[in-house]
Amino acid sequence: MTYIGDAFPSFLHNIVWKYDPQIKIVNKNCSTFYEKFFSKIKDKVNKKQKSNIIYKIECNDCSGVYIGETKQLLKNRIYNHKRDIDINECNTALAEHCINNSHSFNFENCRVLHDNCDNVINRKFIEKMYIRKFKNTAVNFISDIKGIEMYEGIIRHTCM
Ligand SMILES: [Zn+2]
Repeated sequence: MTYIGDAFPSFLHNIVWKYDPQIKIVNKNCSTFYEKFFSKIKDKVNKKQKSNIIYKIECNDCSGVYIGETKQLLKNRIYNHKRDIDINECNTALAEHCINNSHSFNFENCRVLHDNCDNVINRKFIEKMYIRKFKNTAVNFISDIKGIEMYEGIIRHTCM
């Protein structure tokens, strides 16, 4: 596995490598790590026009949240989530949660957690980190965070 991106500060390389020498981290730029990672997205006006994002949607009927990633525009991803629910297609944890519990999600207040992430490997990795961060309420499938356990210490270090 090769992790290419600018989301890893150099001091973490050795830690990751110690856990799994198979993982190669290629950094583009270390200096902006803390500004970029888990940064607050201020531009709420055009969030539905954003693509290459990690997003969070809250359940209207319980404390559950769904963390997702997509290269699509957020508005198109939301459309697909709604369609899945309408046709009873349990192909995401969000749809399954809605269909099995008769709950609905607050699509209007969907939050973009991370944007400008056009590398699919980075996006999926960051999504997993967010699912871990919200693990107490996330409705995501356990398989969505498979392989992330060994990075838990790093995640705690970077998000707290
Ligand atoms: Zn719910």
